[in-house]
Amino acid sequence: MNHFRKRSGELFCEEVPLARIAREVGTPTYVYSSATLRRHARVFQRAVRGLDFLACYAVKAAPNLALLALLREEGFGFDIVSGGELYRVLRAGAEPSKVVFSGVGKRRDELAAALKAGILQFNCESEEELEQLAGVARGMRRTAPVAIRVNPEVDVRTHPYIATALSTSKFGIPANRARAAYRLAAQLPDLRVVGVACHIGSQISEVKPFVEAAKKVRTLALRLRRDGHDIRHVDVGGGLGVPYGEGPEPPAPHVYGRALAEALRGVEAKVLFEPGRLLVANAAVLLTRVLLQKRGAGTRKFAVVDAAMNDLLRPALYDAHHEVEAVAPRRGPAEVVDLVGPVCESTDVLARARKLPKLREGDLVVLRTAGAYGMSMSSQYNARPRAAEVLVEGDRFRVVRQRETYADLVRGETT
Ligand SMILES: *Cc1c(COP(=O)(O)O)cnc(C)c1O
Repeated sequence: MNHFRKRSGELFCEEVPLARIAREVGTPTYVYSSATLRRHARVFQRAVRGLDFLACYAVKAAPNLALLALLREEGFGFDIVSGGELYRVLRAGAEPSKVVFSGVGKRRDELAAALKAGILQFNCESEEELEQLAGVARGMRRTAPVAIRVNPEVDVRTHPYIATALSTSKFGIPANRARAAYRLAAQLPDLRVVGVACHIGSQISEVKPFVEAAKKVRTLALRLRRDGHDIRHVDVGGGLGVPYGEGPEPPAPHVYGRALAEALRGVEAKVLFEPGRLLVANAAVLLTRVLLQKRGAGTRKFAVVDAAMNDLLRPALYDAHHEVEAVAPRRGPAEVVDLVGPVCESTDVLARARKLPKLREGDLVVLRTAGAYGMSMSSQYNARPRAAEVLVEGDRFRVVRQRETYADLVRGETT
């Protein structure tokens, strides 16, 4: 469900024609629908309401302040993975008591900043990190609330680059060392054990691995309580997939919610969720303009657009699929084209062999479902200023991140 629809042959975001945004803001531009984002936020919270829960949006999926502020308004907390993300959520008005700090390596200054802010919990991923956090907390005369991220070692069918629960993964502490790690945490007087955490991967398209992981975490939580730890939070991470127009159809949020409520029955803890992609993926498109059509060898045709892998890395990085749609399709026979960017890399192919209405210079197209890990993974590769971001609200829109300028490209550099 999203609010990007054709009206008399032209693609709109809510009540705003995308052509108008392109005219006024230029391209490439990420266009977010606030109605879609709000809807997803509410659907998710309704899906898990059978549990005592706190939903913490995984900031790395799309970290724009306007999106964070909207989700804060919807009652979301935040899952952060860096000091920069802590800065962002505080700038967006987040309540620190709803912030969880994840990540396999955190600098001491990042730990200190989060302690100072008074976040809800640090999800620690190694024994060494527990010692580091304890050291920082001691220096600040504070007590750090910790959960340990355990690796539940469930097999998840997703792209290997985004599977995090394999036994070979760098993430989490192996389940068989968990109790010892908790003993260590309990012995460190500057730490306070508050929970247990896991996160099994991203773009997961079935409920089963979530259920398996939740059951393992539930069993561990009960065991840890018997060991004397005060387990108040069970953090089950994020990772629920979204449909990209190709590949398996992920379960609906209410199916996921019901299955998790069942798997966690009797755990008697607040359940933390860290959804990212699910909330923002189809709340945005990447709007881009055709620069030219080019004939390759044989019958191959390319549409070269002004967005590239630096703007949307997912196709190059994970071979990800994004649906392509012309904003105002021309009449006439369709053509099969590769949609490519101008960057000097063979992997700069945004979409391969797509049947599209004939495209000419100046035509607008969108890559759909681009909200998650789109702008957040963008770079300035090839000295390309990063795209603008626009948030649509009904019949209005505003630029929530200005297009970078050439001056931005050299900011901080000297000759
Ligand atoms: C990336 C990440 C998430 C969010 O994953 P999605 O697939 O976007 O839902 C949640 N928790 C942690 C620890 C993460 O690293």
